[in-house]
Amino acid sequence: MSDRKRILTGIRPTGALHLGHYAGALENWVRLQDQYDCYFLIADYQVSDYADDIARVREGVWEVALDFLAVGLDPENGSFVIESLVPEHAELTTWLSWFLPLGMLERNPTLKAEMEQIEAGDERSAGRSVPVAFYNYPVMQVANILMPRAHLVPVGEDQLPHIELTRETARRFNRQFKEVFPEPEGLVGRVPRLVGTDGNAKMSKSRGNTIDLKDDAETVARKVKSMYAGPPRGASEPGIAAENPVFLYLEAFDPDQAEVASLREQYERSGLPNKVLKDRLTAVLETLLAPFRDRRARYEANMNLVRDALEHGSRRERILAQETMALVREALDLDYLAKHGDVVREPAK
Ligand code: ATP
Ligand code: MG
Repeated sequence: MSDRKRILTGIRPTGALHLGHYAGALENWVRLQDQYDCYFLIADYQVSDYADDIARVREGVWEVALDFLAVGLDPENGSFVIESLVPEHAELTTWLSWFLPLGMLERNPTLKAEMEQIEAGDERSAGRSVPVAFYNYPVMQVANILMPRAHLVPVGEDQLPHIELTRETARRFNRQFKEVFPEPEGLVGRVPRLVGTDGNAKMSKSRGNTIDLKDDAETVARKVKSMYAGPPRGASEPGIAAENPVFLYLEAFDPDQAEVASLREQYERSGLPNKVLKDRLTAVLETLLAPFRDRRARYEANMNLVRDALEHGSRRERILAQETMALVREALDLDYLAKHGDVVREPAK
C-alpha cells in the first residue's frame, strides 16, 4: 500500500456538480491528488432527502463520476468510491453512534441550518418531516473520514463543523480504547462559499442558482446574462463590488486579477455597465469550462471506463475499510468468537 498520507472527501450523488463545488472543493482535490492517497466518496447513503427519487440518485452517481473525470481527477491515482459498496461505512457509523452524545449533533451549526431549512420547507421538502437518517448523517461523515484513517479533508466551509466532530470523535476513541485514528485536518478551498447566481449566500443544487460544470457555452452565457448583479443601479452610478455576484465570480475565476482590481476600482468610483462585467465573466467561464466539457464528452462516449473507475476505486477502499474495521473490533474488544474459543480451550490445559 502507498505510504502517502490519505485524503478522504466526498459529494452527494444528487445531480451534476457546479462552480461552487469546484471552487470550494474539487479544485483542491485535483491539486492534491498526486501528493496524497485520495478517496473521493460518492455519498449515496446520505441522500435521504431524495428517498422518493432513487432514479435521480442512480443518475447522480454517474453524473458525479463524470464530473470528477471532467475536472481532471485521475482514477488510477486516487479512488472513486461509491459509499454503499463499502458497507463497512454503515457498520462504523453504528459503533461510533454509541459514543457520540446527541448534544454534539444538536450544537452543529450546519446541521441546525439544514434542519431549519427542511422544517421551513422549500419546494422540495414542503410538508415533510425530518427523517432519522438526517440526524445520523454527520455521524456517517465522521465514519467516512475515519474509515481510511484520513489525514486531510478538503471541503467547502459548510463542512468544517463535521470535521470538528470527526476530530473530537477520533480523540475520544483513541483515548478511551486504542490509538486507531489520526486526527484529520480540514482544508477549505480558495472560495469557502460561492454565492448563487441569484445572489443567495450559497450556490446550491436545491436552490436552482447554479452554473454547472457541464453546462454548454450557450447555457452559461444565458445564466450569466440573467444573473443578479447587486441592487438596481444606473450604468454610470458607482456600485459596491462585494454586493455584486458577477464581481465575486470574476474574483474567483478570472486569471487576470490585476484587470479585475482595476475594473473594481472603476466600478466603485464611477460605475460600469453590468454588460461589460457579464461579457467578461462569460468569456472567463468559457475558458475554464471548455476543457472540462471536452474531457467529459470523451468519457461519456466510453462509459465502461467510468464504470471501471467506480468499481476499482470502491474495491480499493473496501480493502482498507476491512483493515480499519479489524482494528476497531479489536480496540472495542468485539472479537466474540475468538474469546469464546479461549474459554472452551481453557479446561483442556
Ligand atoms: P448542494 O450544496 O449544491 O445542494 P450538496 O449539498 O449535495 O449540493 P455536498 O455534497 O454537500 O453538495 O457538497 C460537496 C462539497 O462541495 C462540500 O465540500 C461542500 O462544502 C462543497 N460546496 C458545495 N457548495 C458549495 C459552494 N457554494 N461554495 C463552496 N463550496 C461548496
Ligand atoms: Mg450540502
